[in-house]
Amino acid sequence: MSLSRTIFNTSQKNIFCVLSRAYSGSQDADLVVIGAGPGGYVAAIKAAQLGMKTICVEKGATLGGTCLNVGCIPSKSLLNNSHYYHMAAHGDLASRGVEVETKLNLPKMLAAKEGSVKALTGGIAQLFKANKVGHVNGHGTIVSANQVQVKKADGSSETINTRNILIATGSEVTPFSGIEIDEKTIVSSTGALSLQKVPKKMVVIGAGVIGLELGSVWQRLGAEVTAVEFLGHVGGAGIDMEVSKLFQRTLTKQGFKFLLNTKVMSASRQGENISVEVEGAKDGKKQQLDCDVLLVCVGRRPYTQNLGLDSVGVSLDNRGRIPVNERFQTSVPSIFAIGDVIQGPMLAHKAEDEGILAVEGLAGGAVHIDYNCIPSVVYTHPEVAWVGKSEEQLKSEGVEFKVGKFPFAANSRAKTNNDQEGFVKALANKQTDRLLGVHIIGPNAGEMIAEATLALEYGASAEDIARVCHPHPTLSEAFREANLSAYCGKAINSV
Ligand SMILES: Cc1cc2nc3c(=O)[nH]c(=O)nc-3n(C[C@H](O)[C@H](O)[C@H](O)COP(=O)(O)OP(=O)(O)OC[C@H]3O[C@@H](n4cnc5c(N)ncnc54)[C@H](O)[C@@H]3O)c2cc1C
Repeated sequence: MSLSRTIFNTSQKNIFCVLSRAYSGSQDADLVVIGAGPGGYVAAIKAAQLGMKTICVEKGATLGGTCLNVGCIPSKSLLNNSHYYHMAAHGDLASRGVEVETKLNLPKMLAAKEGSVKALTGGIAQLFKANKVGHVNGHGTIVSANQVQVKKADGSSETINTRNILIATGSEVTPFSGIEIDEKTIVSSTGALSLQKVPKKMVVIGAGVIGLELGSVWQRLGAEVTAVEFLGHVGGAGIDMEVSKLFQRTLTKQGFKFLLNTKVMSASRQGENISVEVEGAKDGKKQQLDCDVLLVCVGRRPYTQNLGLDSVGVSLDNRGRIPVNERFQTSVPSIFAIGDVIQGPMLAHKAEDEGILAVEGLAGGAVHIDYNCIPSVVYTHPEVAWVGKSEEQLKSEGVEFKVGKFPFAANSRAKTNNDQEGFVKALANKQTDRLLGVHIIGPNAGEMIAEATLALEYGASAEDIARVCHPHPTLSEAFREANLSAYCGKAINSV
């Protein structure tokens, strides 16, 4: 057993080796991970690297879960390539001196997406081999505190005896009562990733992150998109309201239509047309929207079907999530859970971090995660990203804060790239100057938020960031200037 790549001290390693030896005669595995999404596959690799005999059970034909197969990866491929198409088709490239005749080849764009998915899911299979993670393809059910039964596609089943179990079964699309998804014309996010032709009119139920991303893809490719949202703002929970307002204005300029404070009542199909009945949430005003594709994007819910939780006495909370303690342990000490199936934001990087922490904890390590330091990104154009607290949250918590803002219109790189919509906003504690939150709308916001997250994790002050040398000309200088403005009230390159 090799523990050479661990971060643990010698005594912690020894405890784990002793425990493992004690079980090795009668157990097939030290750890069975159920689910090979970003939470499960990363946890399985880490566990194997820490010396645990690890088996990952996945019911899907490929590894990578929602994220790689029908989530983050295919959506980002389509977002990237539809953005290029839009730049070419709507004169943006021509304005830069690049004149091309533009024709959409949708099958090729979909094939490029599938190519990325195939390469990345196949990559996990190779990582499993390289790290000696066992992979069993089938549906896993927990039959006791130390046993997982796997039902395979060919009808056979296999029982794995294990010291510990890590549940990483993720989430599924939340259905909309009364609207049946066929994944062809009434689609969830999964169907919206594979439409075979560009809709003429698309209605999106929900102007949260996934609805705006997938709505953007088809709007850029030529669809007339209307997003219906129950809330009074776009971008979902946690978004800063000033950012949300500019985001909505920008998407509207791009062609999006929004019906906010509006609820969808029903949808019915007549031939190729889908009629969607909506009603004002405040004024009760009814109207009918017509479309050829309806995208239902009202969120995701934890997935625990046929997992066998009842049989071991693990009960769910009122939102269907598996309750865990700070070490990701359920009410059964040998069973742990991470990712979308537990509380917290449903994000791939959150699931990954929890997976690593859970197995490090199993091996005797410390377990600590600060949910305030988990960034969120919307991969539209411009991108939107944030980490930490919003102005609204700070006000409701009664925290006194300073605001530093810097517009991309005053950033040399954004100007050079002719991509200057948006701003960076840094929020810092009024008394201590400690950074409390960063909100960005603009080009590459999703990359820039990583620096803000690092600063937040390390407890940096706005002055600390303002005094760090940033390369010129880069977009990251806007982040520095926003912090300069928060710290001393004045940026250099804007008034
Ligand atoms: C369209 C879309 C875009 C998204 N974009 C982003 C993004 O840009 N960034 C981001 O951070 N997040 C994004 N997400 C969210 C992200 O995909 C999820 O938060 C993430 O995949 C959760 O990881 P997980 O490991 O908890 O679960 P999942 O990825 O859902 O994986 C769970 C796995 O468990 C398997 N499984 C379930 N039950 C069993 C069982 N009993 N036996 C065996 N296997 C089982 C499933 O088949 C699945 O493969 C997006 C989601 C969608 C739908």
